[in-house]
Amino acid sequence: MAQEKNEEKHFDIVIVGGGPGGLTAGLYGARANLKTVVIEKYMPGGQIFNTEEVEDYPGFEHISGAELATKMADHAKKFGLEIISDEVTEVKSDGDFKKVAVGASGVNYVGKAMVVCPGGSAVFLDVPGEKELTGKGVSYCAICDGAFFKDQVIAVVGGGDAAVEEAIFLTKFGSKVIIIHRRDELRAQKVIQQRAFKNQKIEFIWDSVVEKINGEAKIESLNLKNVKTNETSTLDVGACFVFIGFYPNTQILPDEIKTNKEGYIVTNTSMETTIPGIYACGDVREQLVRQITNAVGDGTTAAMAAVYRIEAMDD
Ligand code: NAP
Repeated sequence: MAQEKNEEKHFDIVIVGGGPGGLTAGLYGARANLKTVVIEKYMPGGQIFNTEEVEDYPGFEHISGAELATKMADHAKKFGLEIISDEVTEVKSDGDFKKVAVGASGVNYVGKAMVVCPGGSAVFLDVPGEKELTGKGVSYCAICDGAFFKDQVIAVVGGGDAAVEEAIFLTKFGSKVIIIHRRDELRAQKVIQQRAFKNQKIEFIWDSVVEKINGEAKIESLNLKNVKTNETSTLDVGACFVFIGFYPNTQILPDEIKTNKEGYIVTNTSMETTIPGIYACGDVREQLVRQITNAVGDGTTAAMAAVYRIEAMDD
């Protein structure tokens, strides 16, 4: 799709990624009367656009992810935010006050400051039925979706910290939680393992992988294979949470942006990265929890820091 257009579009603040963090940064940038753009490759809202129901965003007891995303985008647009559909393939810093997002369309989006919020991606199982049943019982976020599976049998795939911690959290809802792990030993820290072993609601299926996820309108069962004996079986479940790794989408960012050992961007309290004038917010940033609420907070700080920087530069 990359074209040699060499076209440049100039803004005050260029925001890469239109999730809740990016849209909030856009709202604050536009409200400060700066020419602000969000560049998003899919739909404004990012991951939340595909979330069936959001019930942990203050002020909305129940709202679909798509509706919340649309409300956020419309709200920011009322203040003059421009939202452009394009895929950013590279981010460059060309001096203190020239930040460039290279679009797959061939357009270079040039800003005096930039906010990067490209989010992160869950590692998928990559088995038949997974894609079709995502949002219909297959999930990658226990905090977001756990409460929908009250008193049901919940499967959790993975053996790392995320899988075991989230399995413990899911025991608040499920009648039982079954951890399916491909080895006979967990990767998770011992202290987390012990908590899971003590939990009466958690069971384990060892040495096993999910080969297929079955269901039509919603998930019904999993086809499992024991990797030691090659024995196959079917497990009836009401939900399947997959936690086999999550990676921040930093591939498009310059190497000078510091990341922690898991690859998440390290910022200061103004959300500024190690490149002055480039700020980060949302799931791509190092933080304790990845929620809409903290992405929104990050976006506010990042945009205001960018506004102050641009004002200081214009003085
Ligand atoms: P992780 O540590 O990489 O663990 C991934 C787990 O999924 C492993 O048990 C792995 O099995 C399994 N797995 C990978 N690919 C698979 C596949 N295709 N099919 C079935 N199983 C598969 O990932 P994570 O748990 O998401 O954690 C990511 C990082 O965040 C880690 O550094 C972790 O320590 C950190 N983290 C920390 C905390 C905490 O400190 N409280 C909480 C969450 C995450 P194998 O064990 O056989 O490789």
